[in-house]
Amino acid sequence: MQGIFMSKYIFIVGGVMSGVGKGTSSASIGKILQSKGFEVTAIKIDPYINVDAGTMNPIEHGEVFVTDDGDETDQDIGTYERFLGATISSVNYMTTGRVYQTVIERERNLEYGGKCVEVVPHVPDEVIRRIRLAAKRAKADITLIEVGGTVGEYQNILFLEAARMMKLAAPQDVLFVLVSYLPVPGNLGEMKTKPTQYASHTLNSAGIQADIIIARAERSIDEPRRKKLALFCGVDPKDIIAAPDIDSVYKVPLNFEKQHLADIIMKKFNMKSRRRKDMRDWKKIVRVAESALKTVRIGVIGKYFSTGDFTLSDVYLSVIEALKHAAWFHKTRSELLWLNSEAYEKDHALLKELDNLDGVVIPGGFGSRGVEGKIKAIQYARTRKIPYLGLCYGMQLAVVEFARHVCGMKEANTAEIKPDVITPVIHIMPDQQKNVATQKYGGTMRLGAYPCLLHPKSKSRVAYGARVISERHRHRYEVNNKYRPLFEKKGLLIAGTSPDKKLVEIIEIPDHPFFVGTQFHPEFKSRPLNPHPLFREFIAAAIRKR
Ligand code: GLN
Repeated sequence: MQGIFMSKYIFIVGGVMSGVGKGTSSASIGKILQSKGFEVTAIKIDPYINVDAGTMNPIEHGEVFVTDDGDETDQDIGTYERFLGATISSVNYMTTGRVYQTVIERERNLEYGGKCVEVVPHVPDEVIRRIRLAAKRAKADITLIEVGGTVGEYQNILFLEAARMMKLAAPQDVLFVLVSYLPVPGNLGEMKTKPTQYASHTLNSAGIQADIIIARAERSIDEPRRKKLALFCGVDPKDIIAAPDIDSVYKVPLNFEKQHLADIIMKKFNMKSRRRKDMRDWKKIVRVAESALKTVRIGVIGKYFSTGDFTLSDVYLSVIEALKHAAWFHKTRSELLWLNSEAYEKDHALLKELDNLDGVVIPGGFGSRGVEGKIKAIQYARTRKIPYLGLCYGMQLAVVEFARHVCGMKEANTAEIKPDVITPVIHIMPDQQKNVATQKYGGTMRLGAYPCLLHPKSKSRVAYGARVISERHRHRYEVNNKYRPLFEKKGLLIAGTSPDKKLVEIIEIPDHPFFVGTQFHPEFKSRPLNPHPLFREFIAAAIRKR
């Protein structure tokens, strides 16, 4: 590859408003370029000051996606992993906070050689350093960089400045894609291009000219508007890609491919396709998803329900996707029901609604809200033999339920909720104690991938088809080993542990169609073409129940 940067870079920026699918567009561009035989990686830039996404409320920010190397990142990193089938590392994620932290540390270490350290160029320089490092680590032919937020806001201006500087240094190696929204106001019934024109002009005033525009809208952009947009934004009409609303994100790469977006990009970069991988597998998945006639009804029990469906699905994005992938594997569709655990605390009779489900999932969580309701629901699923999958908190609370109702420890609880409980069946991990005591909350949980040894007689062992697996964690509490002998005596199977057997990683109830709880988050590793084994078997059990 010629050029000073080794990799080619595509910056993806948003126009008009957020939430129009910049992450999906970026991942889809990656997917189609990958299908031409290129090594592709993707970077997410979040413009906020937070060093990572770990300290943010998921209601505001969406899911915290954990990488193998233990970074707490944005859900878009999860989308990249699912689309590219890749393992994305911490260098592919940056925030304003993270960038400044490095610059300030370097200044403290006298690494600027006595110079005045300035916002420009030192901050964009650090952004560029990180971008190039990520490209190098991934040995990428093409590196996608999704700039969070929309053009024209104050927050992302230094990242756009970094992009402009890269373009200036190597014009032939850098492209800009503007993902913009074209509203169709109800009273007019006509698609309006003006907001996107403004976005394009705002981008121009940051010294950047869009090469390609992804026209996100309710429907496909028509010819007259395509011409108009092309003229006013200085883009070739054929470089405007129609991106109408679509029922499945997995169809977006196919829509881009139909419009030859990969060819357009390759031409601009003067690159030739390495091999024809025609995305046949991907098409097959989309077809299965479309043609699946049967459904499994899965209840997801959580607490983040107050702010409407939109936020809700963002909070549990990877869980939703993992359930979809697993259902498609069985040529089935997953119908998800969002159940608020707090309701079960007020009215036990409501638990009967679980009888209409084929399976129950309790995903990860923190704090006391809705916990007693979750425990009630777990008891119901256990005793009524409803397939149950507990993820992290969902596993810990299953242990509390088992202790209370099978082992007769009425007071049993997790120390997270009741620090002075006499029977802390879930307690804080020793090395976490000082973090909490000194309020060191940022990035200090047990994070990222750890190996786990599976019990030879467990369902998990069969599901994975392996003895040792690796899964991603994000927690401070763990099963209290003091109670392990009692749990085992009463019929709980410790199905997975850390290799030194000191940490419980998976529990199972053998005498149940499917009752599995994991201390880790398997949802992060599910891919459309490679569903996660535990989700796959959970859905299989749900189908049997149906
Ligand atoms: N709150 C629990 C802990 O910190 C579970 C965390 C989670 O579900 N991710 O251990």
